[in-house]
Formats: sequence, structure tokens, C-alpha cells
Amino acid sequence: MTHTASDDISQRLADIETRALAAAQSVGGGKPQLVAVSKMQSEPRIVAALDAGQRVFGENRVQEAQTRWAARRGSYDDLVLHLVGPLQTNKAEAAIALFDVIETLDRLKLARALAKAQDRVGRSVRFYIQVNTGEEAQKAGVLPSGLPGLLSEARELGLQVCGLMCIPPVAEPAGAHFAFLARLAERHGLGELSMGMSADYELAVRFGATHVRVGSGLFGARPSQSVASGVQV
Ligand SMILES: *Cc1c(COP(=O)(O)O)cnc(C)c1O
Repeated sequence: MTHTASDDISQRLADIETRALAAAQSVGGGKPQLVAVSKMQSEPRIVAALDAGQRVFGENRVQEAQTRWAARRGSYDDLVLHLVGPLQTNKAEAAIALFDVIETLDRLKLARALAKAQDRVGRSVRFYIQVNTGEEAQKAGVLPSGLPGLLSEARELGLQVCGLMCIPPVAEPAGAHFAFLARLAERHGLGELSMGMSADYELAVRFGATHVRVGSGLFGARPSQSVASGVQV
């Protein structure tokens, strides 16, 4: 019997699901949703994940996601696509047309563009606000102090904001950031929390993540993995 990449991916998928569920149960939580981050992964790996039953995928670039997923929509009507990378206002319409959840709403100008795009495209999606919990100058996300204002403006624009997302600073223990994001979500009545990647998704789940974004831990290393995972390149 030959051992194929698709065996690996279905095994890793099962393993991640098991670990994430165990982490959730250890704190009395429900089953977290795995968002399989497929950016830069090869076609065979993506097919393997689909064959193994995965339907929720994350991408960090609009154009790459269009190439990979637009045509597949026809074959998999239960696909759920999350945008997890930064979004420019000039790509708002393309993003609204393709994605189901945009996790990276982080500024008023973008909220306005997305509201307009929803009207033009005739499609409504769900949003998470990305919070720059580490207040890092180079990182996307609204500062924690700006969250209440952005949230109320986004709601006024008619955007359906369901949760929060963060990418903790690489050099700091992630737990404090996960706990902080969970508190912010609770304070603002937001039920969904996207946090945790390959290295720390179990930890994130113990802090209340409802969605974990796992890429290399599921699919294997990306071609440019050495650049840094989780950082927008
Ligand atoms: C690439 C990426 C991930 C997945 O990172 P891995 O370490 O490969 O699991 C998660 N979230 C975001 C925002 C990313 O850009």
C-alpha cells in the first residue's frame, strides 16, 4: 500500500479536530471550528483536505483565493471561506463576492467600502474585527482603544459583526493576548473568537477560541514558510 500526502492530511485533520475538541472540553466549551488556512498550498493538498471532508478554509489574499476557490464553489455548496489577511479597500467588492467571513475588518474606511460593496454585489457576509492586541506598529488590526468606536460604526453601516480576531506578537506568550481578546469579545457581546494557529491552537481554545486558523500544521510547510508564519508577507 502506498502512503500518500492525502493520508497525512486526513490523519492530521482528525488529530487537530481531536485535540481542539479535547482542549474545549477541558474548559467546558463546545467544539471549535477549524479554519484550514490554505494560502500558498498545492492543489493536491487542498484536494486531500476536501476529500477528507474539510469545508471551512482561510486565505490571506483575495486574488489567490479567487483563483483557488471561485470555480470550486459550484462543486461544493457547503464551502465556507474566511479571509484572514489584510484587505485593501479597492478589493472590497471582490472580497464580498467570494468570502463568507471577513476576519480582518480593522478600520472605518474599510467598513464603509465593505458596506458599499455589499450593496453593489447584493451579498451580505459576516465580519470579525481584527484587534492589534499587542499594539504593534507594523501589524494590522484596530487598537483595543479603537474597538468600541469601530464596532458601533460598523454596526451602523449595517455590517454583521460576529466576532473578534487577533494575531499575538511572536515574541510574547500568546495566552495573555487570547485572554484579553476573549474579555473584549465578552464585553461587546460578540460570540465568535478567531485565535490560535498551528503552534498554539489548543491554548487558544482553552481561552475560548471558537475558530482556530491552522495552516502548516494541517497541510505541511508552505513554500515560503521560512519567511514567518502568520505574518502578512
Ligand atoms: C498563515 C496564517 C495562519 C496559519 O498559520 P500556520 O502557522 O501555518 O498555522 C493563521 N492566521 C493567519 C492570519 C495567517 O496569515
